[in-house]
Amino acid sequence: MLTAAAAPTRPPPVPAEPPRRDVTITGTPTTPTAPHQTPARRRVQVLVIGGGQAGLAAGYYLRRAGLDFAVLDNAEAPGGAWQDYWESLRLFSPAAYSSLPGRPMPNQPGHDAPDAAHVVDYLTEYEKRYELPVHRPVQVHAVHDTDDGGLLVHTDDGTWHTRALISATGNWTRPFVPAVPGQQLFGGRQIHTRGYRRPEDFTGQRVVVVGGGNSGAQIAADLLGLADSVRWVTRRPARLLPDEIDGRALFEIATRRVQDDGPRISDLGDIVAVPPVRAARAAGLLDDQPMFDALTPVGPRFRDGSIWPADAVIWCTGFRPALAHLAPLGLRTGERDRIATAGTRAQSDPRIHLLGYGDWTGPASATLIGVGRTARQAVAEITELLR
Ligand SMILES: Cc1cc2nc3c(=O)[nH]c(=O)nc-3n(C[C@H](O)[C@H](O)[C@H](O)COP(=O)(O)OP(=O)(O)OC[C@H]3O[C@@H](n4cnc5c(N)ncnc54)[C@H](O)[C@@H]3O)c2cc1C
Repeated sequence: MLTAAAAPTRPPPVPAEPPRRDVTITGTPTTPTAPHQTPARRRVQVLVIGGGQAGLAAGYYLRRAGLDFAVLDNAEAPGGAWQDYWESLRLFSPAAYSSLPGRPMPNQPGHDAPDAAHVVDYLTEYEKRYELPVHRPVQVHAVHDTDDGGLLVHTDDGTWHTRALISATGNWTRPFVPAVPGQQLFGGRQIHTRGYRRPEDFTGQRVVVVGGGNSGAQIAADLLGLADSVRWVTRRPARLLPDEIDGRALFEIATRRVQDDGPRISDLGDIVAVPPVRAARAAGLLDDQPMFDALTPVGPRFRDGSIWPADAVIWCTGFRPALAHLAPLGLRTGERDRIATAGTRAQSDPRIHLLGYGDWTGPASATLIGVGRTARQAVAEITELLR
């Protein structure tokens, strides 16, 4: 038999849809436990794992639904992956098109497109404003079935019992580097996108940037002028999206795709032409070249046998979803070994939802403007399930 968690006192006022204006949710938080209160086992109706933008969007709708929930996040501070992005990074779109549900992101004075620190401030304020019960830092290790049809969530701060779970752990904590012959032999420095902060760290150096996505293009452009030379290599020829496609347009294209009407984003290109990338490309300073075959002790070796001596390789080769905690559940997998989903719901287990990992968990769900739509859907399905 399922054991119901304590019923919430009264649902907070619900803002009208679509919540594009500044909305305040007032009322007593429904969380039954204060952060780091440590009874042997805590119970909630819904547990959210991950307190980045996706976890907060889920929290917003869970609060609106009047469900009893908690958010567990392993970071020390609010902001998710945005806390770690490089200094020059700017959003793809103006603040007004980078908002989570309820509370529009304010403009950043002096910037058309805000920087990562501004997003961290926004997310910090967002979770305070909606009194989201985020417990931090709490590392979730594993989720198991219980005999009563619930889920037991093991963390480094005790266990939780829940009836439904939203996993919103992102990709940032699982950097991916492809296996390349000679990788261990290279005598220079190798870092992943995740470790890149500023071009000054590469002043006067010869740097290879690997990867034909947004990070590769942006980091290669960022290094120009300070590095001695930059070689940007990609597996396929790099494809910039048309200049007019920013984050807002990406969201609109993804929305049209939901209705099966219009092109796929990947049909149009891979890289958002943010101003520094566009400027570097127009000046002829940012040309991608084919990927090298191997690394040698001094640098990459290309197909024609030439070796380019280098001081550093920056792997902008992406991430994998951080989903190890769900492994004990043995959820059914589908394409590319991903957990098979119907929208955000795991196909083989209606108690589990995956939020924010990319298009396979909802169109544009990995963006600030897009994750709200999928969060709302996930919470609607969970509400129905718990009814
Ligand atoms: C270079 C770059 C530029 C981008 N630009 C934009 C942009 O302009 N606009 C836009 O909308 N999006 C942009 N994005 C995408 C956006 O930043 C990410 O998709 C977003 O941060 C993902 O949010 P999330 O909440 O899913 O994951 P995260 O922000 O990674 O949050 C997940 C949280 O869960 C925690 N966590 C992970 N595992 C566990 C665990 N086992 N237990 C407990 N906690 C855990 C993590 O530490 C983290 O705090 C960009 C991304 C990159 C890489």
